Amino acid sequence: MNIDYQEILDEIYQEIKPFKGEGEVADYISELANIDPDKYGISLHCFDDQEYALGDSREKFSIQSISKVLTLSLAVSQMGDRIWDRVDVEPSGDPFNSLVQLEYERGIPRNPLINAGAIVVADVLISILDNPKDDLLRFVRSICGNDGIDFNPKVADSEKATGYRNAALAHMLRSFDNIKNDVDTVLDFYFHQCSLEMTCQELSRTFLLFANHGASYESGEQLLSKRLTKRINAIMQTCGFYDEAGEFSFRVGLPGKSGVGGGIVAIYPQQYSVAVWSPRLNPKGNSVLGMKSLELLTTKTGLSIF
Ligand code: GLN
Repeated sequence: MNIDYQEILDEIYQEIKPFKGEGEVADYISELANIDPDKYGISLHCFDDQEYALGDSREKFSIQSISKVLTLSLAVSQMGDRIWDRVDVEPSGDPFNSLVQLEYERGIPRNPLINAGAIVVADVLISILDNPKDDLLRFVRSICGNDGIDFNPKVADSEKATGYRNAALAHMLRSFDNIKNDVDTVLDFYFHQCSLEMTCQELSRTFLLFANHGASYESGEQLLSKRLTKRINAIMQTCGFYDEAGEFSFRVGLPGKSGVGGGIVAIYPQQYSVAVWSPRLNPKGNSVLGMKSLELLTTKTGLSIF
């Protein structure tokens, strides 16, 4: 089927205009509060090597929780299924930074894409990597085929300054012995992974890995096994949007992941990877225009995994 993606992106851009002022930028991380709320970019990478893009698609933004998919991938690539002893794979139905389930479920986070789960994954990486932050950067750069990807130390520091909830989660996890390393070291790693910056173009290119059964789109090298890639995609589908994961599945019908920087990335296996960025968030912490854009994309193309 021949789809004119550029025309579809142009139509989407027109149709989302009435919703442009909706939502608020995440301001609990002070560095994110300074971002122009009306930025908008989208990049779609197809398997025929074509990229279709629009707006601020080549401007870096803070990928925040989208990084959780990348740290999970690095952890499972190193230790395989043993990771599931430390973190479950069920949707939480709760906000990303919620503490409540963690206590009554005795320190086993519901899934790796909420903060508690990602903090456990951060701990795992600190235990198994020689230079955790450098090794993470190397992994992400190799997937994307781009050495320019980096942390933003200002964003990491500003989150650290007010990261009380994440500190509470980490200490609770430690009390259940589901964190093995020094809590401050784990939090420092977590805040850095969240501060990773990418453009829509870089993000969509990176996530082609998950659309390509775990093989690098650049080199063909199998970076993740097919089986583990299936699992990560399933977790994105069921847990990628916190307490709005059902809504995203319902409206968009693709595995994906959001972050409070306003980014959303989604994949259509064997077809494309798409990243959209618009900093205004709905009350659940997901980009308003990002959700709308992807809903329009799967509606207009008539393609989703369902
Ligand atoms: N760094 C953010 C936090 O821990 C990530 C949250 C998100 O993107 N949903 O609060």
